Amino acid sequence: MSEAGSEGARTAPRHERSGVAASSGIGIGPAYVIDRRRVHVPRTKIEREVADDEVRRFQEAMRATRQQIEVIKGRLPHGEHRAILKAQQMMLRDPDLIGRVEVLIREELRGAEWAVATAADEVHEMLDRADDDYFRERRSDIMFLAERVLQALLGDHTHEITPPAGSVVIAHDLSPADTAHLHRCQVAGIVTAAGGKTSHSAIMARSLQIPAVVGVDGILGEVMTGDLVVVDGVRGQVIARPEGEELGEHEEERDRYDAFEQRVQREHAFPAITEDGLRVMSRANLSLTEDIELGIRYGAEGIGLYRSEYMYMNRDALPREEEHYRTAKMVIRRYAPYPVIFRTFDLGSDKPSKLIPFSKPEANPAMGLRSLRLALRQREIFLDQLRGLLRAAVHGPLRIMLPLVSSLEELDAGLEAVAEARDQLESAGMAYANDVPVGVMIETPSAAICADLLAARVDFMSIGTNDLIQYTLAVDRDNDDVDYLYQPLHPAILRLIKGVAEAGARHKVPVSLCGEMAADPRFTWVLIGLGITELSMSPSAVPVIKHIIRGSTAAEMRAIAAQVLATTTAREANEIVLAAMRERFPEHLKHGGGRSAEEEG
Ligand code: PEP
Ligand code: MG
Repeated sequence: MSEAGSEGARTAPRHERSGVAASSGIGIGPAYVIDRRRVHVPRTKIEREVADDEVRRFQEAMRATRQQIEVIKGRLPHGEHRAILKAQQMMLRDPDLIGRVEVLIREELRGAEWAVATAADEVHEMLDRADDDYFRERRSDIMFLAERVLQALLGDHTHEITPPAGSVVIAHDLSPADTAHLHRCQVAGIVTAAGGKTSHSAIMARSLQIPAVVGVDGILGEVMTGDLVVVDGVRGQVIARPEGEELGEHEEERDRYDAFEQRVQREHAFPAITEDGLRVMSRANLSLTEDIELGIRYGAEGIGLYRSEYMYMNRDALPREEEHYRTAKMVIRRYAPYPVIFRTFDLGSDKPSKLIPFSKPEANPAMGLRSLRLALRQREIFLDQLRGLLRAAVHGPLRIMLPLVSSLEELDAGLEAVAEARDQLESAGMAYANDVPVGVMIETPSAAICADLLAARVDFMSIGTNDLIQYTLAVDRDNDDVDYLYQPLHPAILRLIKGVAEAGARHKVPVSLCGEMAADPRFTWVLIGLGITELSMSPSAVPVIKHIIRGSTAAEMRAIAAQVLATTTAREANEIVLAAMRERFPEHLKHGGGRSAEEEG
């Protein structure tokens, strides 16, 4: 990788482009343009006698690359970004990939560089055939990693980008490791020509709180190193060489934004109580124990969703009872006296694990053998987890939550499994908690419609809007082509949420909401107005959502919910909600999780 361009052409005119607002905030500084050139790969044949040496050279390069990523990872604060780098390290241990390179060296007698490039191209081609965001992201991961391994083989150590602090980095694309390194360099912002909101570099930038706009077509041809650039990660705009008063206006906006951010962060530990006295619990969603401190740092009152399925991913052996016990014990001790809600493993469909054998390929995995259905089929694995959780509950307020329930029978089967795990512990004479609250996720239309029936059997309910929206509106939650139909304020969704909240209230069962809607400031009033009193969200969203709650009354939230319930389309509902929230909380909306507030406007 090398830097292109000299001091910016001062005479070039103002230039503005838009892209995807990937990480909010406003960054202003001189451009630092990076021109990523593919590494030149020597295609050399080797003699059979040196094949072992060549394999060793390859292994050493892999080790060095893993080490590089470890160093970068070690310098970062905890957060989602670390999980991405960890996944990349796992890819570097993939036995299929390593085996393929070794075959190319030993059998086809290719030099290590050529073998690595060939194996990476093969994986890339295979992923190319899969038309899916998840695989597209793996494809760029593999190319970035191959590039690093090749640089290690070639002894090229020039790949680390070193922009001056305060600059705005402009690149075609950035690997997660590059982005992590930029955080250390204290850059003011990032602009890339490639990528979308869910690309790994975008997630990294969000997690590291670097303002970023991605998918800005043609930006490399328009900006030179040294040009002054404004990155508006709120609106998804990039302005090169701003003119006249414009620069001052953007600087003011940046300062307002930063001051607001500081205020919200300062108050993160205050409880969320509305001006008229309604207490709303704000909890965090957590996937990895590595991120355990995040919820604490952002003032979360417990964990409303611990996605335990991540314990079954990127590893070679199943987690057993003892590991579940130890993990759960550690998390509940950290969050006590607040509760931690462990969702039993929600594997399958968008969260596959190679550790749990599927009987056959599925044509429609979102509706197939997944989540609780899979757990009930793999009963021993499920019981292992349940025993571990029941034992850990001796040490603090742990709750168990069953995912993707679609009928009372399914819920009963899940509850029976919990009872069986309890009996097993009793027979074995092990210590366990007998009073662990068990709840159900409301993620299917049938569960929402029959919430009153489910509520009679459980201690709490939690609405998973990510799936509830997908299943109710028949819109794949990960498919860009139908993204325009994914409407959280669709009348059907509003009615279902209201119905679940009412069923919970009738049965005196608390109702929480733990889908992405909970993290989006646009929806805070509507959700609480509909009767939700617990929200669980990505940790970094907690301070802003709490701030909104503290600045509102429950009465005005109920009023807006009533207005929205009377609409006939999501568009109308969006207009009402946006107008109200923009007027009262303009700064908070800019901090919104999920889609940029402007997108709906
Ligand atoms: C949901 O579906 O809203 C949810 C919280 O679960 P996940 O996103 O893990 O499917
Ligand atoms: Mg779900």
